[in-house]
Amino acid sequence: MREEIVEAAKLIASTRPWIALTGAGISADSGIPTFRGPNGLWRRYRPEDLATPEAFQRDPHLVWEWYRWRMEIVFRAKPNPAHTALKRLEDLGVLVCVITQNVDGLHQLAGTRCVIELHGSIRRVRCTSCSYRAEVSEPPTEIPPRCPECGSLLRPDVVWFGEPIPSEALSRALELCERAAGIIVVGTSGVVMPAGMLPHIVKSRGGYVVEINIEPSAITSIADVFVRGRASEVLPQIVALVEEMLRRAYS
Ligand code: NAD
Ligand code: ZN
Repeated sequence: MREEIVEAAKLIASTRPWIALTGAGISADSGIPTFRGPNGLWRRYRPEDLATPEAFQRDPHLVWEWYRWRMEIVFRAKPNPAHTALKRLEDLGVLVCVITQNVDGLHQLAGTRCVIELHGSIRRVRCTSCSYRAEVSEPPTEIPPRCPECGSLLRPDVVWFGEPIPSEALSRALELCERAAGIIVVGTSGVVMPAGMLPHIVKSRGGYVVEINIEPSAITSIADVFVRGRASEVLPQIVALVEEMLRRAYS
């Protein structure tokens, strides 16, 4: 067993409550491309040039074509052992909530009860003019899709670059960071704000930061333990150890 895995498990088993901040990397092993990694590109476009209100205004058809491609991938994807490990940690009473930047809904599919979606969900659409909102389970057949209530354009119910985080999600996330004993940061580059700031808040309040990533990120310099590796391999090992440590402590 690698030393950092044991260190991470010791920290996690020694205190509570823990929270987690997840990014695209946790879903990479479910076959969903990250924005900044290989396969993140669609045609010749960078995500930063498609996931914006300006891009949608300029060319809603193009932006919807990209979302149709992403929806097809997400609707076929299944939670991987990293999502399941976080659900297990919640069942153990150690983890109180998962704060995610992902829009894929895989934490909920894995059974995690407390999930805060900072960037919305690709499994919902909403109207650009009225209050219409709906869940979707397949990509729209006609794009760009139109609102059944008022005929305006529908958009994915996600947060685009330059748009604010839904205020309730952000305030719940901030509150959790204020009182967390530690945060497990999984598969995020840590450069998208304000999500990237959350581990700093936990740290500044005296909490621990455990990070899992295949490479160092903007968070690594403040991590108490950095475990380098794929989330789907590393997280289940850490959680199994935590479970064993807790069992020993209570027997
Ligand atoms: P990012 O693409 O900027 O960074 C992904 C991070 O994951 C990188 O640091 C990379 O090293 C790491 N990583 C890749 N594979 C990994 C693995 N198997 N195990 C552990 N780590 C791995 O993603 P971000 O930080 O989440 O920010 C980008 C934005 O992209 C977010 O706002 C999010 O909404 C959006 N996004 C979401 C999804 C999704 O819902 N699955 C996918 C792509 C992008
Ligand atoms: Zn409408």
